This record gives sequence, structure tokens and C-alpha cells, in this order.
Amino acid sequence: MKITDIETIYVRMQQIKTQCDSGQDALVIKVHTDEGITGLGEVDSSPMSAMGVINGPYSHSICCGLKDLLLGEDPFCTEYLWEKMFRRNVYVGHSGVLFHAISGIDMALWDIKGKKLGMPVWKLLGGGFHKKLPCYASVLFGDTPEKTYDEAARLRDLGFRAMKFGWGPMGKCAKNDEALVAQARKGAGDKVDLMVDAGLVWDAKTAIQRAEAFAAHNIFWLEEPLPAHDYEGYRRLSNATSVRIAAGEEEDSLEGYRRLITEGQVDVVQVDLTRCGGFTGAMKVASLAVDFNRPVANHGFSTYINVAAALHWLNSIPNAFIVEFVAQNGTDLRDMLTRQTIRAQDGFLQIPQEPGLGIDLNEEVISRLRVN
Ligand SMILES: [Mg+2]
Repeated sequence: MKITDIETIYVRMQQIKTQCDSGQDALVIKVHTDEGITGLGEVDSSPMSAMGVINGPYSHSICCGLKDLLLGEDPFCTEYLWEKMFRRNVYVGHSGVLFHAISGIDMALWDIKGKKLGMPVWKLLGGGFHKKLPCYASVLFGDTPEKTYDEAARLRDLGFRAMKFGWGPMGKCAKNDEALVAQARKGAGDKVDLMVDAGLVWDAKTAIQRAEAFAAHNIFWLEEPLPAHDYEGYRRLSNATSVRIAAGEEEDSLEGYRRLITEGQVDVVQVDLTRCGGFTGAMKVASLAVDFNRPVANHGFSTYINVAAALHWLNSIPNAFIVEFVAQNGTDLRDMLTRQTIRAQDGFLQIPQEPGLGIDLNEEVISRLRVN
């Protein structure tokens, strides 16, 4: 089998609201082969930047568009192709958009392998740990503590046993921060695991104060309270509080995750399959986390391609325990883009059993919303 083309498909809602919602546009990757099998992947990054990394022409031996590097290659050779894409782009970067672009292609290559062999990706990765996994409903904080209460109560009534509130008004002042978390807990009830995603808003000392205040509301983890690369701050915070600290969605390279775990001392390692180098990169991050006895969770705030990829990965590693599931009311690009919609049942997501990722695009929506 040979790779014959790589297609970058940038879709974007006609109306984009200025808000925290990475579900308003998407960069979908298609890898085509000479056997007529097409693999699907996603990049959750700056779409045009990632497209440049993929579609750019040969410049020189360590700076070359990913498509140019992969045409004519065997899609089954994922480890070799990953290294080729990385090492032939040293000038493009050791993290960031190069990793994001590699992620979408690597994901599509594993989809091809699964489709060709008639097996779900998790089986190719040696998985089989779960039939289903508990998920947490992931939403933004309401504009006010009262609106946060209403949202928590809505999610509790939908049957979620865990929920996470993030970003929005968090970080304005101590009083409002604590009221947001108090109302989230009140709306969720005492039986629900409650996570708080601060959204990169504090320094270490402020985060230590908030962690102790939030501990009174029995939060399950405190996520990304500090700027992403303040590893020293993360270490001070982790050592000062008994609250679990979660981070990792801004990381992509194995080196970044190594620093987050060993220097930052975070407790829960979060991995986004559309940014960390796809399945090939994510398996290495999971292995690193196992070495340091850290549980991992996915990050996914974009499409069902991302959610499906996360389910395959989480079913292939020993240190998975929960899935992030976007329950945000907002744009409907997520529900339109793919023919499958992944739904939670009683707080669980089923592990996909179809060949490859088990996800197909809604081509009518693609042609209507495609930008390029
Ligand atoms: Mg987050």
C-alpha cells in the first residue's frame, strides 16, 4: 500500500463568536492510498499554520512539507514515518505546530491500518482494557455563580457522575472564584466528582490559596491554574496542596511532558491526540506517565474525531481512568461534521468497535463549510 495524497480540509462556521470554543472550526486531514482506503485525522491548532507545515514544498533536507515527505510511502510504517516527519523538520520546531500537524497525519495513518485489517485502532495498539469508560461533562463556568449552579444541576440531571467547569470568569477575584466553585458543587450535589479548570490565570502563590479554598468543596482536580510552562510554579503548587493538579493540554512533545511530570510534579497528565503527535506520540506519553505512576486523561474540546481517537488510546494504556466529554451548549459544527455523534450514557462512553477510528465525515457539511 502507498500514500497517494494528503488533503487538508479547513472547515469553519459562517459565524464565529469570540468565545472559548474550539468547536467552531476544524482542520480535518485525509490521507489517501493507492488501494482506495482513506484515513481520517484532526489537528486542533491554528489551521492555516498547520496547513503550511503539511502542504509546504521541499525547502531543504531538514525543512520540508510533511505531504512531500510521505507521498509514495507505506502507511503501515507509522513509527518510521513519524520519525521522518520530525527529523526532516528540525528547523520547523521541537514542539508546537509541527507536532500538531504530525498528529493529524499519524491519526489518519492508524485509521488506514485499522480499515485495511478490519480492526479498531485500540486493538492494533494492543489495547482492550475497557468496554466503556466513565466520562466527565466538560463545560465553561457560567458568567455568574448562579448560572454555574444552573448548569451543574442540568448536567447532574442528565446523569453525569463527574463534571468540569472551566475558564470564563475564573481568576477575577478570590470572592468570585470561590463563589463559582461553591455554586458548581451545590448544583452538582455531593455524589458527583467536580473538576475545576482555572484557565492559566494565576501565579503559584495565588493558586496555592485557591486550591486550599476549593478543597473545602471537595474538588477532584484543579486544572491548569498556572501558565503552561511555569514548571517551577507547578512544583511549588503540587508540593503545597493535597488537591490533585492536572495539566498537559498545552504540551505536545515528549520532552514537554517529561518536564511537566518531573519538574512540575503534576498529578494527572492530560493529552490531546490532535496535538501530541497522534497515536504514536500519545502512546509514548502514556508510557512515560506509567513510569512515574501518573494517571492520564485525554483533552478534547473539538470534534468527535478527537473524542474517538481518545477512546481508542485510553483503551490501549493501563493508566486511563476517565474521558473528557464536551457537554457545552454552543455551535453545532461538532454534531454536523461527522456521521457519528458520540453520546454519554449514564456517565459512560462506549469504546468504539468499528475498524479504524470508526468515524466518517458528513461530506455535505464539509463541502458547505470548507474554507480552502
Ligand atoms: Mg483544560
